[in-house]
Amino acid sequence: MSAQFIDGKAISASIRQEIREETARLAERGIRPGLVVILVGDDAASQVYVRNKAKACEELGYHSEVVRLPAETSQHELLGLIERYNADPAIHGILVQLPLPKHLEEKPVIDAIAVEKDVDGFHPVSVGNLMIGDDALLPCTPSGVIELLKRSGISPAGKHAVVIGRSNIVGKPVSMLLLRENATVTICHSRTPDLPAVARQADILVVAVGVAKLVKKDWVKPGAVVIDVGMNRLENGKLAGDVDFDDVVETAGWITPVPGGVGPMTITMLMANTLKSCKRANGMG
Ligand code: NAP
Repeated sequence: MSAQFIDGKAISASIRQEIREETARLAERGIRPGLVVILVGDDAASQVYVRNKAKACEELGYHSEVVRLPAETSQHELLGLIERYNADPAIHGILVQLPLPKHLEEKPVIDAIAVEKDVDGFHPVSVGNLMIGDDALLPCTPSGVIELLKRSGISPAGKHAVVIGRSNIVGKPVSMLLLRENATVTICHSRTPDLPAVARQADILVVAVGVAKLVKKDWVKPGAVVIDVGMNRLENGKLAGDVDFDDVVETAGWITPVPGGVGPMTITMLMANTLKSCKRANGMG
């Protein structure tokens, strides 16, 4: 039997509707969530991401600012700008689009963002709060994965979750979130021996590797939930996940398509974080 699709587009649309309603209620009290996105240089993919973020803000009635800086911007200038937005009461979320041009250091830039405005969830204090289970602004793609599971009626509790990938932006935080949801978690990476055998133990398999169609049907336990975070551009211009969808779809119980699975959730969770930060700044949660 073919796997059931986890429809990221539909789930994302329903979360956005909830956000829209809450934003409208806040507007009645004169409160408006605000997000600034800072883009340094002219990386083509980053331009698209930034445009999509600004568009999402517009659709949801947020205050939105996009700052486009030339590639030769200095570290000092960038840090100064972040300081300004840290102090700006109209702004509840600050996002610096990564990657930065080579001459800029990412870590001091991330560290400079006020923790309460860290809507990407990359600040070391946000990461630490996630680790110790404190309330934190959670990184967007990992929290999107958890929302996809929950809203599809899949509880990670008591399940064996296998995560392939240990990056700071996806693999590690999604593993922590699954642990927080009471899954038993195995984290795999490029040095894991016999990866297919480990993956085959998973009730929930999360793949965040960056290798197109790596995961085949013999990596998947029949009936398992397969969450494909990968976004790889093929030579023919099409997007492909890290899972060989056509090969796996008959074996898995649930599967996210690419595109239309995890992808749409990332910006939606960014919007949810900005709303959360705005409510906190106004003493509401
Ligand atoms: P990354 O920083 O490059 O990390 C990749 C991870 O995969 C590393 O831990 C690496 O292991 C592991 N890995 C690489 N090749 C492997 C192999 N053959 N077998 C087992 N493990 C392997 O990538 P990332 O930022 O986490 O992104 C992963 C994928 O998710 C990419 O396709 C990216 O485009 C996509 N992504 C999507 C979204 C979204 O919104 N949907 C957001 C972020 C990322 P080592 O640590 O041992 O090197």
